[in-house]
Amino acid sequence: MDQPLTINPIVKNMAPDKLLGFQKEISQIPDVLKLTFGEPGFNVADSIKQAAIKAIEANRSHYAESQGEAPLRQAVVDYFNQRYHLNYQSRDQVIITSGVTEAINVIFQTLLAPGDGLLVPEPAYGPYFSSLDLAHGVCISVDTTIHEFKLTPAQVEAAIEHSEVPVKAILLNYPNNPTGMTYNRTELEALAQVFKKHHIWVISDEIYSELTYQGQHVSMAELLPEQTILLNGLSKSHAMTGYRVGFILGPEDTISEMQKVHGALAFAIPTFIQDAAQMAMVEDDDRINMMKATYQKRRDYMVEILEGLGFTIAKPAGAFYIFAKLPVDLGTDGHQFALNMAQVAKVAVIPGECFGGLPSSQAYIRLSYAASDEDVKAGLTRISQYVTALR
Ligand code: PLP
Repeated sequence: MDQPLTINPIVKNMAPDKLLGFQKEISQIPDVLKLTFGEPGFNVADSIKQAAIKAIEANRSHYAESQGEAPLRQAVVDYFNQRYHLNYQSRDQVIITSGVTEAINVIFQTLLAPGDGLLVPEPAYGPYFSSLDLAHGVCISVDTTIHEFKLTPAQVEAAIEHSEVPVKAILLNYPNNPTGMTYNRTELEALAQVFKKHHIWVISDEIYSELTYQGQHVSMAELLPEQTILLNGLSKSHAMTGYRVGFILGPEDTISEMQKVHGALAFAIPTFIQDAAQMAMVEDDDRINMMKATYQKRRDYMVEILEGLGFTIAKPAGAFYIFAKLPVDLGTDGHQFALNMAQVAKVAVIPGECFGGLPSSQAYIRLSYAASDEDVKAGLTRISQYVTALR
């Protein structure tokens, strides 16, 4: 008998995505209202759609320039320089990727040698961990639940000092998924000092930058441009999740190394999508402001009700999520709570355990307010009735 055919052990041993596992569990339950997705409930602006249609009609159907079409890369440089006081000099400092998802893989594959350590403030967006496994990197988790989800310079110092592997980089994500936390300029400056002192890469996923409700978003690329690899994209700000447009910006010599990886992984995103993305870069802010105002109203509504029920919440300052700690009388098992609530009250939220490996996230649930007003209202009514009935 032949031995069974095998696959790469790294993939075989990869931690299964807990979020996918949970979604599978609740997919069997009929009529569940979902407050789970990070999917903006808005359509793409007509001008952007028309740009894609026009490109298709003009037979823009050939291979695009792999790094991204030159006019789009220039538009990206202009957009980020102008919006966040950045100082990128050249369109060769940009790669257009298939969403931030591909960008994360390109960056990890380029910066991390097998065994290199990556500092990950947790809770964190789940897919980071799979990408890190694929890059053979080592996750060094830092618990942010103790400081309202904000990483402190002292925590960075301690994590680097105690790490058993060389620390090559830190992964920041603000405004944050799942917590909605963001940093102000003073906090970022203090962090930047430590990153500079230890001379580590800063991978800064700022995909929710446009959804900042308090103050102005400050980019790490403004404070520490020589060490920062900036990630952004159109999925959240322009409700273009399905178009798959992401951006990597950084020092030109590093970007040209990353381009080798992007060329190998995805080659390029479709030409007509690049034309649509270019239109998005020159859209006025009306739609972004409209979406932001809508999210903010939903956030306020949800926070008030959840706090009234006894959940502990650090008020989200950005993105469209609430990371709520279960009231003491409801226990500390967010997974069981979420599962029971989906079964009994027919409303789905995500258990905190899906956002990293630290036990401190287990007593939390994540709710998304990127759902329609009706669903947000109906979902919160169901949660209120469920929690009240438990008491
Ligand atoms: N980074 C974070 C923090 C996210 O929350 C998401 C999507 O939810 C992504 C990246 C993926 O974005 P994209 O659609 O550009 O691949």
